[in-house]
Amino acid sequence: MSGAFDATRLATTASAALRAYDPGHDLPALRGRFGAAIAELGSNENVLGASPLALAAMRSALDEVYRYPDPRGAALKSALAQRLDVDAAQIALGNGSHELLMMLAQCFADAAHSIVYAQYGFAVYPIAAAAAGAQGICVPALPRDHTTAPLGHDLDAIAAAVRANTRIVYLANPNNPTGTWFDDAALARLLARVPREVLVVVDEAYHEYVDVADLHGALPLRARHPNLVVARTFSKAWGLAGARVGYVVADASVVAVLERMRESFNVNSLALAGASAALADEAHLATVRRYNTAARAWLVEELAQRGYRCLPSQTNFVLLDLGRDAAALEQHLLAQGVIVRPMGGYGLADTLRISIGRRDENERLLAALDAAP
Ligand SMILES: *Cc1c(COP(=O)(O)O)cnc(C)c1O
Repeated sequence: MSGAFDATRLATTASAALRAYDPGHDLPALRGRFGAAIAELGSNENVLGASPLALAAMRSALDEVYRYPDPRGAALKSALAQRLDVDAAQIALGNGSHELLMMLAQCFADAAHSIVYAQYGFAVYPIAAAAAGAQGICVPALPRDHTTAPLGHDLDAIAAAVRANTRIVYLANPNNPTGTWFDDAALARLLARVPREVLVVVDEAYHEYVDVADLHGALPLRARHPNLVVARTFSKAWGLAGARVGYVVADASVVAVLERMRESFNVNSLALAGASAALADEAHLATVRRYNTAARAWLVEELAQRGYRCLPSQTNFVLLDLGRDAAALEQHLLAQGVIVRPMGGYGLADTLRISIGRRDENERLLAALDAAP
């Protein structure tokens, strides 16, 4: 035997179809370069941070870090069950909701099945389908000039795309990276059209930021649609992105299948403690929501005054629709220490995704735009 060892040809068909996650900018290096004069607006993090109650709980959990976490996550599940008015048996916990979105595909689809998701939907869905060896069906987004949800999910087309072998439909509401959303009635219509054998996964990562009257989220529809799976996370409005904890609410039979695949200690003890304590701090969440709504409106207005159009957003970010390739502007911003998310990987090279930052970060963004050539 000769030649260099190369395991790539040993990879399974499913893993051969995947590519490693592109981490984008080297943030530690950029922090070293710009120090405090950086505006990190690329990752949709909650700039107000986690609840002080969550931080205190995590600090005290540190004393017990030599112990394994509770593999059932019983305290967090019970706090969630109470808050959401569901049974603890209808909740599965994940190392971020990302893990659960992947597990759903792994548990319920393989090469015999297809998985439906939207163009410009969250990037994890096609990866989840490919990792499970299932066929991904990408449904074209709504047109850019659509009045309420430009580039958003086309629910009629999504319902029509479901085939006899479809096992999962992934929807994000609101969606990342567009920021767009659909209302409760639109989801109810979709659920009425999709057979019960298809899991409809509604990813509500930005649910807590929503402030429109006709979107309350998918949970109430579960009573009539046991195939509905609702995914949420502590990474966004709860300010715990670094702790990695998310959950799904689903029929107990869906949760039971997920539990077979779940790693026994997938959510660590600090994350469990932080998330449980965060749920008890409604006041902090209210502050976060209020700040986000006001800061987003302010930023959109400031951008509009400069001739920049944003897609409508119910999230803690906006998608800036530049109408021309955004690479040069992105590089200009980066050189000023303003980090935004380029969207070429999504097929939206003429847009930039910009998270709502602290006031000083948003101002740094605007100043850098004003200085753009
Ligand atoms: C951020 C995000 C997630 C959450 O990811 P975590 O793994 O929970 O950090 C899920 N879905 C969408 C659409 C997101 O933007």
